Amino acid sequence: MKASQFLFATLKETPSDADIASSQLMVRAGLIRKIASGLYIWLPMGLRVLQKVERIVREEMQNVGAQEVLMPMTQPAELWQMTGRFDDYGPELLRFKDRHDRDFVLGPTHEEVITNLAQGELRSYKQLPISFFQIQSKFRDEIRPRFGVMRAREFTMKDAYSFHVDQASLAQTYHDMYEAYTRIFTRLGLDFRAVQADTGSIGGFASHEFHVLADSGEDDIAFSDASDYAANVELAESVSTAERQAPSRAREDVLTENMPTCKMVAEHLDIPLEQTVKTLIVHGHTEDNEPQLIAIVLRGDHQLNTIKAEKIEEANVPLTLASDEELKAAGLHKGYIGVDLDMPVFVDRSAAALSDFVAGANEENKHTIGLNWERDASITRIVDVRNVQEGDPSPDGKGSLRIKRGIEVGHIFQLGDKYSQALNCTVSGEDGKPVTLMMGCYGIGVSRIIAAAIEQNNDENGIMWPTTPTVNDSIAPFEVAIIPMKSKEENVMQTATALYEELKAQGVNVLLDDRNERPGVKFADLELIGIPHRIVVSDRNLAEDKYEYVNRRETEKQMLSREEVLAKVS
Ligand code: ATP
Ligand code: MG
Ligand code: MG
Ligand code: MG
Repeated sequence: MKASQFLFATLKETPSDADIASSQLMVRAGLIRKIASGLYIWLPMGLRVLQKVERIVREEMQNVGAQEVLMPMTQPAELWQMTGRFDDYGPELLRFKDRHDRDFVLGPTHEEVITNLAQGELRSYKQLPISFFQIQSKFRDEIRPRFGVMRAREFTMKDAYSFHVDQASLAQTYHDMYEAYTRIFTRLGLDFRAVQADTGSIGGFASHEFHVLADSGEDDIAFSDASDYAANVELAESVSTAERQAPSRAREDVLTENMPTCKMVAEHLDIPLEQTVKTLIVHGHTEDNEPQLIAIVLRGDHQLNTIKAEKIEEANVPLTLASDEELKAAGLHKGYIGVDLDMPVFVDRSAAALSDFVAGANEENKHTIGLNWERDASITRIVDVRNVQEGDPSPDGKGSLRIKRGIEVGHIFQLGDKYSQALNCTVSGEDGKPVTLMMGCYGIGVSRIIAAAIEQNNDENGIMWPTTPTVNDSIAPFEVAIIPMKSKEENVMQTATALYEELKAQGVNVLLDDRNERPGVKFADLELIGIPHRIVVSDRNLAEDKYEYVNRRETEKQMLSREEVLAKVS
């Protein structure tokens, strides 16, 4: 590419509404432009980066056998009504009507559409397992769009979905996807961690997030320095922040946020809420650290109330509250959330797992722990650790905890049959009887990755793209810039052009900076954009048969022969 013909949209000044390093640099380097809150145009320079990330993601999805599809961003509301998410999803879901007064949504995610597709196209267990993916725009009406493309309203996501006849097959594909994600973020040269996560509004039983470590991250993640333990401390954060701000009502508010877990249990077992999860008992503590029971009561209408223990009898709702004695007898103590032990549906299946969980909880801990449930209603892991601090012992008994900020760039879920039940997605099984499919879903914030990569790699002069294990995977918009110094000698331009053509022929993404600008301006632009290799061709250097080479990550200039230069950049 010749720079004189390319849209160089660099800015000297930092835009006043760009809030963190990556969003400032992305605008200044001419990668993106904002057109409204949370809405961005990808300029040619930025789109090159986006497409490079897409290429790596696409290759790894294909490697695990996922087939690419492209679904519309606009989705009929009926599908969302069938799964209940038309009402449940909340204000992030943009709902609108067409000219015929029919309801539609702009897709924040595509479980409904893909399940509808699978329902129509899949007939037999012999076609399974099968996975689909797409790389496409999503719309979420984020309450607080910020950090540029990191938390945008319209953004590029890779979303994949898998379909299975049983849990074992789902677990296998989930594992393959986990490995594929690990390869993607490794190839991208990012410093990342996979962590156990809550399943949020998508629902499901097992879930991992992939976080790029950076101080500007919005999540706290806790991990052990001596084992594989790593978890998102999302809930921990919200409790401690809320408690600090409003000690008297904080806990109830925060507990309200814990409900997806409970609701998910009920939905998953496909039993009306009022018959199943009668009470989610929370053994909390008061401001003075006095033990106190709070019950969360779930009603059939999905309404949630939190009631202080002493008020429970007054509330005319069907519930059972375990007494302090009962909790102690069950080995449960201060600082956890437990599901009512009286519930017949859980007792036989969860007792063992529950005692394991309790055995793992520490006598003195003041942590509140969210539970996740598998299909057989056993506790598979402890998701959240509350008020954890750097240096605390780990939850798995190995090493001590470290806490870092992370940017969520990927999220994988085992969904079970939540969507296939609602949308009647079955195939005929080996015995000829219909089987409701099990599903997994796997998201990557393709556009967010770029902001995250820049958060991890920048200096006072601008962007530095991550160092990738192979040069081919570099996501820099151009790998090499060649700058011919202004000269009366034809020779300079000819030599620069010849080198440019040679690198181009080798498949290197090379930029010939033939713009009519002073060298200082060019150097500053190329550093801002973060081009990894810079080669200057000048009269003086050519007289010695040398090229001036500098790497974006080094300050030292080197005088190199043609062969040495080629070896550096190809
Ligand atoms: P967050 O916790 O940051 O709001 P999420 O958990 O709501 O993200 P998922 O539903 O898990 O997001 O979507 C899959 C991926 O899409 C996320 O891991 C993230 O990388 C990306 N993503 C989600 N919301 C946004 C957004 N507003 N802008 C850019 N990328 C996003
Ligand atoms: Mg979100
Ligand atoms: Mg999240
Ligand atoms: Mg997520």
